[in-house]
Amino acid sequence: MSKFISMMWSEGVLEEESEVFAQTVDGVLKWLFLRHPRALMDPPIRIHLYGNWVIPALVPNTPYWGTQWYIDMSFDNTLQRVIAPVFLELVRQEPWQRADPHFDLALLDQDLTDFPAPLARLRPDHYALGTSLPGTTAVMSLHRVRTLTEAHVRALALARLVRHHLGHVMGIPSFGRSASVQRRGLELHCTNRCVMRHAETVGELAALAIEEDELGWPFCELCTQDLHTVVVRQLYNWN
Ligand SMILES: [Zn+2]
Ligand SMILES: [Zn+2]
Repeated sequence: MSKFISMMWSEGVLEEESEVFAQTVDGVLKWLFLRHPRALMDPPIRIHLYGNWVIPALVPNTPYWGTQWYIDMSFDNTLQRVIAPVFLELVRQEPWQRADPHFDLALLDQDLTDFPAPLARLRPDHYALGTSLPGTTAVMSLHRVRTLTEAHVRALALARLVRHHLGHVMGIPSFGRSASVQRRGLELHCTNRCVMRHAETVGELAALAIEEDELGWPFCELCTQDLHTVVVRQLYNWN
């Protein structure tokens, strides 16, 4: 059985933004599958685009009625931000994740923090571009990316944010790796010239996106090996 990547986004995400989101994930997977003829025929990781979904029969009183439910449940009114640890936990506990474990990516137009609410209120200046539960799910925000004034840079930065978090949900860098890695909370980051480097601010994100654009394929050799290991594991995991 092939594993899938579920992709959802909030109502405020523009079509051009959801296109960058979908094309970036598709591009990374296709590039990886090129090395595995069998994967090209029968992709071991498939994309399910759910976008801004809703299950009308569940609205409004049953949990998990739609994309907006996750946002409502994790949104802090004082901070006007989505509390990422709450959001990610809702995804981890969702009935579909339990029934059929898969990768989950969410793109929101709301602002985001990776701190729990009490800490986030003490540090209102702190925001997150995206955060993840490595190996399972990640949530990203367009809120800061949209402050970049140049359309070209904005698109590069968004694609970089998506690639980075696709890496996290696929468990990259792998936790067994000791070379060129740096731990940050639950996440491991790469220290090579690589898209798995951490970007703290939107300015850093834009600068790294521009730099990596010149590399073509933006994952370093070690991270690429880790990605191929995930693909191969999925390819031969038929149970
Ligand atoms: Zn990261
Ligand atoms: Zn790397």
